[in-house]
Amino acid sequence: MSGIRDIIILGSGPAGYTAALYTARANLKPLLFTGLQPGGQLTITTDVENFPGFPNGIQGPELMDLFRAQAARFGTEIVDAQVEKVDFSRRPFTVWSDGQPHQAKAIIVATGASALLLNLPSEQKFMGFGVSACATCDGFFFKEKRVIVVGGGDTAMEEATYLTRFADVTVVHRRDTLRASKIMQERAMANPRIKFIWNSEVAEVLGDEGKKVTGVKLRDTVTGAVTEMPIDGVFLAIGHKPNTEFLAGQLPLDAKGYAEVKPGTSYTPIEGVFAAGDVHDKVYRQAVTAAGSGCMAAIDAERWLEAQAHDASHHANTPAATTRQPAGAPGRH
Ligand code: FAD
Ligand code: NAP
Repeated sequence: MSGIRDIIILGSGPAGYTAALYTARANLKPLLFTGLQPGGQLTITTDVENFPGFPNGIQGPELMDLFRAQAARFGTEIVDAQVEKVDFSRRPFTVWSDGQPHQAKAIIVATGASALLLNLPSEQKFMGFGVSACATCDGFFFKEKRVIVVGGGDTAMEEATYLTRFADVTVVHRRDTLRASKIMQERAMANPRIKFIWNSEVAEVLGDEGKKVTGVKLRDTVTGAVTEMPIDGVFLAIGHKPNTEFLAGQLPLDAKGYAEVKPGTSYTPIEGVFAAGDVHDKVYRQAVTAAGSGCMAAIDAERWLEAQAHDASHHANTPAATTRQPAGAPGRH
């Protein structure tokens, strides 16, 4: 362990790298752990057409290399390793990576979320080439095409409805009743461009590898019968899982495992620990919103650290002084 840092950032997606860029430029000398997926979720996609500043679009991995270079340029220390354990019960906070402890006065958690996948080998082969877990991101590529949406929850209904702007949509659900809320079900069912296939699951994605999807094999969950369906795209909408297992018991998480933050800020209920990006955002899940929230966490952390330093020097001079909180802070928990 090499002394107590001002700030450690967990995660190297748009949120983590943006938090690093801002804290590095604020001279806080951040240490960032990339985790097992350096660059985050965008490294498993191809074209990103909705990140501002790239009018011709950019490949996901290339965009994340640029994020990394920009964070490094201002002095972020980047370690390509996972954090396996944390102790947020006392300050300075401790995180362990490869068994080694590292301490910091403040932590930004930007470990993202993972879209749940079907875990089919063929699904992996076509990820970014016709298989997607994000309709907002990839729907545009399916103009006048036929796609399926897998899942029966609110996300599936929302994604299916959104995709009808571009494509003919079939929802494939493994049961004969939807999990989605009534209003979302009704909206999807009333949409003439959405059809439903019940009691069915995707057994295999078919296509030209590295090029495009051409169809799926569907298995009837009641009879076991397998049929082929020609289609151009597969949108998975079977849920997301925040990457927070290693934080259990250390950081308050909601019922689905998302980090809790004070609305409109990045403050978690643990003072000095901030959260950014998909690890707390169940609603927007976009690179640009994750980056924005990384910026918020950096500014929140910077102001909080400054208030701490101010307190320390003030206490040294006036022992009876009360603690000062930065503007926007949620108060002590
Ligand atoms: P993530 O990108 O999920 O990054 C999380 C980071 O945390 C990773 O680097 C990971 O290694 C790290 N990590 C996890 N656990 C640990 C740990 N224990 N210790 C240290 N590090 C850890 N959005 C768009 O705006 N446009 C698009 O076109 C688009 N396309 C997409 C295509 C696909 C296939 C997917 C899956 C998503 C897409 N998205 C798109 C969504 C976008 O990628 C996410 O909203 C965004 O990446 C979230 O950023 P994040 O920084 O919060 O987390
Ligand atoms: P969800 O509610 O957990 O639904 C997941 C769906 O995927 C379920 O229908 C499930 O089937 C199916 N599924 C799961 N694993 C599968 C697999 N391996 N193969 C095939 N199908 C599988 O997730 P969500 O739809 O993402 O919603 C998450 C939360 O966000 C919910 O609380 C939801 O209400 C909320 N949300 C709200 C809105 C809104 O109100 N506008 C929009 C989006 C999300 P079963 O039904 O058989 O389990």
